[in-house]
Order: sequence, then structure tokens, then C-alpha cells
Amino acid sequence: MTAEILSVGTELLLGNIVNTDARDLSLALSGLGIDVHWHSVVGDNPARLRQALAVAAGRADLIVTTGGLGPTCDDLTKQTVAEFFGKPLYFDARAESELRAFFAGRSMTENNLVQCALPEGCTPFYNTCGTAPGCGFETADGHTVVILPGPPKEMNAMLRSAALDYLRARAGGCIRSHNIMTFGRGESAIEARLRDRMNALRNPTLAPYAKEGEVRLRLTAKAETPEQAEALMAPILAELREALGDIVYGVDVESLEATVLALLGRRGETLAAAESCTGGLLAKRLTDLPGASRVFRGAVTVYTNPVKEWLGVDGETLARCGAVSREVAAQLARCVREKLGADWGLGVTGLAGPEGDGVHEVGTVFVGLASAERTWVRALRLGARSDRSRVRTLAANHALDMLRRALTGLAVELA
Ligand code: ATP
Repeated sequence: MTAEILSVGTELLLGNIVNTDARDLSLALSGLGIDVHWHSVVGDNPARLRQALAVAAGRADLIVTTGGLGPTCDDLTKQTVAEFFGKPLYFDARAESELRAFFAGRSMTENNLVQCALPEGCTPFYNTCGTAPGCGFETADGHTVVILPGPPKEMNAMLRSAALDYLRARAGGCIRSHNIMTFGRGESAIEARLRDRMNALRNPTLAPYAKEGEVRLRLTAKAETPEQAEALMAPILAELREALGDIVYGVDVESLEATVLALLGRRGETLAAAESCTGGLLAKRLTDLPGASRVFRGAVTVYTNPVKEWLGVDGETLARCGAVSREVAAQLARCVREKLGADWGLGVTGLAGPEGDGVHEVGTVFVGLASAERTWVRALRLGARSDRSRVRTLAANHALDMLRRALTGLAVELA
């Protein structure tokens, strides 16, 4: 079943609000095995809504509209959709009693009653947290149409309480996905390695998504049951893990930081960080996760040389090698590990730009990792054209990846 989500609302076109309804619907529909092929947006204008419906009906089996169900004169979705598909409206008595109950103790203006008009033969979806009911119906030419309110809270509540069941009965099948999370190779390198395999795959399919040194590969299968979808994916998942090797840091895990916290937790070990160019980003990402305090002892933002010296970096090394150096990254990792009494220490120093320092290229970063036994340093050139935010995010990602690799017995230095 192919679907088009047709969002109605002039505020969407003006950019006043973001179309979160379309996102939420897409996620929910794909979970039912429905292929969402189009999102479209149209203003509160019946003529243009009719045009959009004609386009949608020409290319999709299912049309889901959001918005324009309220009592005001610009709320014309239900009337226009019903008229377009040749469905007269009837007055739904239960919708009226629910509406009157909603307004109990308050005065209700009569224009609210237009919300109780629904297309004949539809399955009404009563609104559990607002006033306008939605509905689903089949058209004479075999389309399925679902009409939902615009306010995201109401739309989502109606979806869960009624519309998903209505659609599940018509969709037949399900879609399941697994996310293979990798760090250390760019999207194009991964794509080059897997291109032939990716192109040959039909079900499951494989799609890469890249962000800041990380590439997520989304494997998606469509089948009658979840078990069949899993069975289709299992051999491909194993093959991909084998092909990608140790750049895979997890499957269906949330992030590098979540992976590192879980690994530390399993070993009962702790971490501390000294952050110069990342300025607390590592600490933020780690402490965003609940339960971080069990393994993360804390971080120091060692932004200036006196603070680096306060932590224990020796002044002579700072003067001789400069703050952005392999030696200082190593000392930061060792000093913070010791000062905060952790099993592992990370130290990050680098040049996030945009101005250079006359010595290093913008994007030069050194990341140190120290355990009780040894210290590793990664020297990174993260791109002279990278902006500050990208340099900092990549530096933090590398720090987490180094620790992830050390904790799993892999080589920490870059190949
Ligand atoms: P109401 O009864 O509030 O009039 P409605 O079904 O008529 O509901 P709209 O009038 O189109 O919906 O939108 C009401 C509000 O819901 C908008 O101002 C906006 O805040 C939110 N909204 C509408 N459509 C969307 C959307 N696609 N994504 C996110 N928010 C939306």
C-alpha cells in the first residue's frame, strides 16, 4: 500500500510551524508496512486542496490528511475531501454528545457543531483530547482516506487510539529496521565498499545516513510478520558486520556515548575527561544519558594554559610543544584520570577555528586516552573548512571512539 500524507495549513507553508505531524505519521505508517511515497502541504484553500487531492489520488492508495478540522471558516478539509470523493456529510450524534461533554460547564458556540459532520459510511475516530473528530473511509475507486486533526497532540492521540487499527486492518504486513552504527569511515568509503551489495538488495533494503564521522546503515525489511522480516534481515546483518569489521560500534544502539557508558558499566570502570577545544561537549553528551554518574566521574574544561597547569600539565611541556600538541593531549588524559580518580582519562586539545593560531591548520586536534598502564594519542586533521561546531563534535566522537576501541580490545590509533 502506498501513501501520501497531505498536510493542510497555511502556517505550514509560511514556515510558522514545522510539519511534525507528517514526520510522526511517516514513522507510524512505515511501522505498518505502508510505503509513504509522498508528503505534500497545501494552504487552507479549498480549490488548491482539491488539486492536491487529485494529484494524491492519482499516485497513492492511501491519502492521510492532517489539519483543517476545526470550527472556524478556514477549516475546510473534511468538507472538501468528502465532496471530492463524492461522499455526502451526515451529522454524527456521538460526536455531538462528546463535543457537548467536552464543553460541559462552559458555553459552546454553535459553530462548533460543524465538526460533527462526517462523510457517510466512514469509521469515525472520536477525539480524546480535543474537539474535532477524524475518520477513515474507502472511496468508490478503491482509495483509503484518513482524515486527522492538525494539533500534534490530538493527531498522535487519534492515531494511537483509532487510526492505526483502522489502517492495520487494510495494510497487511509490517516493516522492520535495524540500524548498524559505524564510526571511522566516511559515507562515500562505506558506499564504495558496499555499493554492489546495496544495489542488489531488494528486500531488505540498505540505506546509509552520515553525520560527523558516523555513518548509520539502515537495513529495512518488509514482510507479513515481524518474525519473517527478522528472518530476511538476519543473514544480511551478519554479512554487513563481517564486511564492515570493527568500525561497527553497535547495532540499534543510540550513540557512541551510550555505547561507551554501557561498556564501562559492564566492566565497573570509570571515566574522567579534560576538555580544551570541546569545552565540555564530551561531558554534556555523557551526562545527557541517565545513569551516567555510575561511570562518569566528571570533566574539567581546561580552556587556558593556567588551567591546564592547574590540572597538572607541566609548564615546560606547554612552552616547548604548545597547548595544541600530542604531548599535552597525553598529559591531559593522564592528569585528569589521576586527579579525578578514574580508571580512564580522556584529554582533548585542538584548534576549532575559525581563526588559526599561525602554527596549526584549523581542525588540528589531539586526543589522548590514558589507562593505568598506557597512553594513546590520536592526531586528527578535521578539515580546515570545518566550522567550530563540526570540529568539536568530531573531536568528541573520536575521543569516545578511542575509548570504545580500548574497552573492546581493538587498536586505538587510527590505521
Ligand atoms: P483546530 O481544532 O485547532 O482548528 P485543526 O484540525 O483545524 O484543529 P489546524 O487548524 O489546521 O488544525 O491547526 C491547528 C494547530 O495545530 C496549528 O496552529 C498548529 O499549531 C498545529 N498543526 C497543524 N498542522 C500541523 C502539522 N502538520 N504539524 C505540526 N503542527 C500542526
